[in-house]
Amino acid sequence: MSERDDFRRTLAYGETAIGHLRKNEIPAYPRNYELWYTYAAGFNHALNKTVNEILRTRGKISVAEVSKVYDQFIAPTRLGERIEEVGGKLSTEIADVVGMIESSLTATSDYCVSLDEATRRLSGTTDRESVSGIVQSLIKVTKDTETTNRKLEHQLADSRRQIAELQESLEAIRYESLTDELTTLANRKHFDQSMERAIAECEQSNQPFALLLTDIDHFKKFNDTYGHQTGDQVLRLVALAVKQNVKGQDVACRYGGEEFAVILPRTNLRQAVVVAEHIREAVYSKELVKRSTGENLGRITISIGVASWRRGDNSQTLIERSDCSLYAAKRGGRNLVRCETDTDVNLDTRVA
Ligand code: GH3
Ligand code: MG
Ligand code: MG
Repeated sequence: MSERDDFRRTLAYGETAIGHLRKNEIPAYPRNYELWYTYAAGFNHALNKTVNEILRTRGKISVAEVSKVYDQFIAPTRLGERIEEVGGKLSTEIADVVGMIESSLTATSDYCVSLDEATRRLSGTTDRESVSGIVQSLIKVTKDTETTNRKLEHQLADSRRQIAELQESLEAIRYESLTDELTTLANRKHFDQSMERAIAECEQSNQPFALLLTDIDHFKKFNDTYGHQTGDQVLRLVALAVKQNVKGQDVACRYGGEEFAVILPRTNLRQAVVVAEHIREAVYSKELVKRSTGENLGRITISIGVASWRRGDNSQTLIERSDCSLYAAKRGGRNLVRCETDTDVNLDTRVA
């Protein structure tokens, strides 16, 4: 879909969203607008179903209901809001644990005072009855302290469990913040971090690593012919082909819209070209059939550029050489793999 099409389509969603806000007399705060924009775009089916149900029964939706629908269907997908929620719970747990430590210190100090007092009273007492009375009171404070400590122990165990759960939530959020939603490959942020790490490792170990850059051929035409949503399905398919042809240590990323990158640690240029060929063949071997209609969409192809790390390289210089190789693959007719040492790769085309 062209930028012009995107402009028209999204503007229409925006105008519909404003219409709903006006009709239902909902303030146009970003949250409320986002909800109606999502509704107008229609890709969150559960949200649309709930809103339609409310509109059908009452004809109108209130500000409170809009807020509830947002919390239920949009907020869980917002990392910022989830981080805030986990952060809030973590603060509460930490405050509870601090409170428990304070209670435990007070209980211990009260117990010491009771012991001191009993020692003082015992030193001035000789008759059996008084001694027995002091011992009885000592037994009581000891038992009370024990009860308090046991209660604190339970509370502490509970907090430990809650904190472990929150740690898991944080880990899930961290994972999502580094993952591309559409393809579930690593996202650009993850790619940037992984490149820095791979370069740092190479500088230490002198072991080579390679970088593949892939770009779908004539994808604009595909989108224009079959629509953006079918285009997105193809992106998922290409991502799967990439994922299925790399191993555990390799990092497969969505580099940009229809461009993927793969970082191949401890891999030289020749080995990386073999991996690239596998990915190219895997994509080419798939015949595309539209699930909803059974329509045959033909084949999609990709071009791949390969380069490997050299001493002195930074992220940008290595990406540039992969990009020059990719450019040569496109120029050579597409559905091709080219690496930086191929004779038709012109590294002088790099941006200065
Ligand atoms: P070439 O063979 O030279 O690469 O031709 P191309 O048409 O693929 O050109 P280019 O790589 O510049 O195309 C980018 C196009 O990819 C623009 C847009 O239509 C499509 N595209 C980019 N991101 C997305 C996306 O997230 N979803 C979909 N469906 N299409 C996308
Ligand atoms: Mg492109
Ligand atoms: Mg392309």
